[in-house]
Amino acid sequence: MISTNGLIKKYGRTLALQGLDLEVPLGAVYGFIGQNGAGKTTTLRILAGLLRPDAGEAAVVGRDVLRDPRGIREVVGYMPDFFGVYDDLRVGEYLLFYAAAYGIRGVTAQKLRDDLLELVELGHKRDVFVDTLSRGMQQRLCLARSLIHDPQVLLLDEPASGLDPVARVEMREILRELCRLGKTIIISSHILTELADLCTYVGMISEGRLLRQGPLNDLLAGDRLRRFILRSNGPADAAAEIIKGWPGAAIINNLPEQVEFQLSGAADDVALLLKEIIGAGLPVVHYAQTEQSLEDTFIQLAREVNG
Ligand code: ATP
Repeated sequence: MISTNGLIKKYGRTLALQGLDLEVPLGAVYGFIGQNGAGKTTTLRILAGLLRPDAGEAAVVGRDVLRDPRGIREVVGYMPDFFGVYDDLRVGEYLLFYAAAYGIRGVTAQKLRDDLLELVELGHKRDVFVDTLSRGMQQRLCLARSLIHDPQVLLLDEPASGLDPVARVEMREILRELCRLGKTIIISSHILTELADLCTYVGMISEGRLLRQGPLNDLLAGDRLRRFILRSNGPADAAAEIIKGWPGAAIINNLPEQVEFQLSGAADDVALLLKEIIGAGLPVVHYAQTEQSLEDTFIQLAREVNG
C-alpha cells in the first residue's frame, strides 16, 4: 500500500499540498487526476523521496519516505514529467549507464537492457542516438530507465503528455503489461479521458487536497445512476416544475429543449417520476439516463469543493 497522511508542502507562500491523504492499494493502477498546478508532481516527488514535505507522513510499501530513503529508492521507479536525454549516447548505452548506477554490469546488464527495450518496443532502436528518437520513443525509453532496478511501484508523471494518439495507445499497452507483471502504478494526468480506460483506481486532486478517491467503477457508477435528461413538447418549464418538486431530484440544467437533472433514491423512483410527468399531460419525447464521464465527475467535485 502507498499512503500519505496530512501531507503539507509549501514553496515560499504557495501552499502546494494542504493536508493530502492518499491511499493506493498494492496492484492498483491509480490515476492521479488534477488540473495544472493541483499538486500532482509535488506529491509524486515526495513519494519518490526527492522532496521533503513540511508536515505529514508518507510511506510506500512499508518504507517511510523521510526515515528510509534507501528503502524508497529500492521499491520506487520514478518517471518525471520533464526529462533530459543525453544526445551523445545511443539507446542501449543509455540503459547500460543507468544500470551501472544501480551496480548492474556485464552480461546481466546487457540482458536487462535487451529485455527492457523489448518491453517498451524499442529493440530495433538499440544502436541509434537517443536524441534522434521521437517524443513517444523518448518517453518509452525513460519508462524503461525507471524500471532498471525492477521496482515494485512506478510513479509516472504525465507519461502520455505530448504524445500523439498512436503513441498514447502504445504507451497504454506497455502500462497494461506492467500491470500484468504485478507493478503498482500511479499515473498523473490532467487529460482525464486517457486515464479512464487504463486505471482501476482514481484519486482526484485540486488545490493540494484530495477531492475523492476509490475504485474507478464506483466513482463513475455512483454518479451515473443519478443523472437524467428529459425532453418534452409541453409548455416550457412545466416538466422542470414537476421535477423540482420531486423528492431527491435536483435540476442541473433547465434548457428550453430539455431538462437535465439528478435523482437519488430507489430505482422505482425513475419510473414513478416519468409516470407523474406523463400523468400531468406532458408529451415526453425522450427520457434517459446519461453517461457521466470521469471528466464530468471531476468538474462537478471541483466546483463543489472550490465553490
Ligand atoms: P502540472 O500538471 O502543471 O505539472 P501539478 O499538479 O504537477 O501541475 P505541482 O507542480 O505539484 O502541480 O505544483 C503545485 C503548486 O506548487 C503550483 O502552484 C506550482 O506553481 C507550485 N510550485 C511547484 N514547484 C514549485 C517550485 N519549485 N517553486 C515554487 N512553486 C512551485
